[in-house]
Amino acid sequence: MSTHCRKLILPVFSLLFIASTFAGELTSRMELTLDRVLHGGPPVYTDDFVLADAVPEHVRRFTEFSGDVSGRYIGALATVAQFNGKKFSELDQVVAKILKLQKEDGHFGDPFSTNEVTKSDMAIMWGNGRLLIGLLEYYRLNPSPAVLACARRLGDYFVKVGPRYNDPAIVQKFSGDQVAVGYICWTQIIEGLVELNRITHDEKYLKLSGEIARNTHRHPKQHSHGFACALRGILELYRVTHDDQWLKKVEAEWDGIIDSGNLLPQGALPEIFKPLIARDEGCAEADWVRLNLGLWSETRNPRYLESAELSLFNEFFFNQFSTGDYGHHTFTDGGVASRSARAWWCCTFHGLRAFPDIARAAFHAELTRLQIFLLVVPEPSGLTPELFNIGRLHKQLPGGQAGDVFTFDDDGKGAVHQTMPAPFDLHLSRLVKAAQQLPVAFEANGIGSRAAPVEPGADILPAGGNQDV
Ligand SMILES: [Zn+2]
Repeated sequence: MSTHCRKLILPVFSLLFIASTFAGELTSRMELTLDRVLHGGPPVYTDDFVLADAVPEHVRRFTEFSGDVSGRYIGALATVAQFNGKKFSELDQVVAKILKLQKEDGHFGDPFSTNEVTKSDMAIMWGNGRLLIGLLEYYRLNPSPAVLACARRLGDYFVKVGPRYNDPAIVQKFSGDQVAVGYICWTQIIEGLVELNRITHDEKYLKLSGEIARNTHRHPKQHSHGFACALRGILELYRVTHDDQWLKKVEAEWDGIIDSGNLLPQGALPEIFKPLIARDEGCAEADWVRLNLGLWSETRNPRYLESAELSLFNEFFFNQFSTGDYGHHTFTDGGVASRSARAWWCCTFHGLRAFPDIARAAFHAELTRLQIFLLVVPEPSGLTPELFNIGRLHKQLPGGQAGDVFTFDDDGKGAVHQTMPAPFDLHLSRLVKAAQQLPVAFEANGIGSRAAPVEPGADILPAGGNQDV
């Protein structure tokens, strides 16, 4: 064996080691949480249990957040079903039942007050906001006129009460230490309103979204998940309007979170901003990762991908419990305390909801190039047994030939197979960077194939045929 050959083979093992460390982890973690939502417990998510906050029946924790558990349950399962092609009869049942629970004025759950806006109103608003986006995520999966009509009635209710909740006095009143019932309960509805405009093209939903976006600000003792959720909504507003002011606002708020020290070294967004940092929250971690991946998608600024990667591997994965739940861990000076909470009322759903977004952000395919951004290997088994996996990736190194089949999703419409029509380059910038951070040299090569070794720092494996080593 020539020196040149040995030089090539060693790096193959290096890449294999890196790949096997993470191969399938994203899929297995998503399946764990999916199984918990469908079959796990306690508590078990029966129809009645889920729908209690939309009735309302105050028979479990947090039903005062009208539509919160029900909305997140619907949104998470619908998005996963769209991603992996599975059908969940439980989901269809819950949606059919919830349509009958809508109040005359369009909202769900407890009645709103008629005089001054109260904390109770904010709790009801939060849940209804989660329900609006949940219904619309279900509509993407199953575009039923009845679901859209229900969502429109809820959106129209938001439009009707908009002036009341956009009042500067209300902004000020709820921008203190109200945490879960603060002003974030109102600003988080942007996401649903923008999606409603995307479907109906009705401008009134965008107009209200813009008004709420202008009232979205970070402040001390704020509930971080609500804030991150609002920022995701404003990013969606940018995606629909292409108005730069919204992207600039999200980026400025991202800077603010970092500069204020509210993102912890391991990439955790604490449940409550300074000076009340005490524990993490699965919802916040999930939405922080989603926000960063969204910003990366829009700007291709690597700082967002690096931030998503930090939080994904060091906090989002850590936050997951062995039961599949997501939740809270109390911080200590040296790590976390033994005390923790499986937040079945929110984080478990939000954790599940994040997985399809992470998988979709991991790869991007174009005509003559395939880019790998995250060192994760999603394998939605239902649709795509041969879905993009590292074993296949090995065979395709350094680049690929016309006719090679990959599976990817980059537009939110579910996983699809992509037959590359022409020889293509393989862009591996994240793999290269990760490899450089490990005590191995990175000189990529394919198994049973050959290509020019990749110099450290290079990130493109050019298109080429298989050649013997
Ligand atoms: Zn949560």
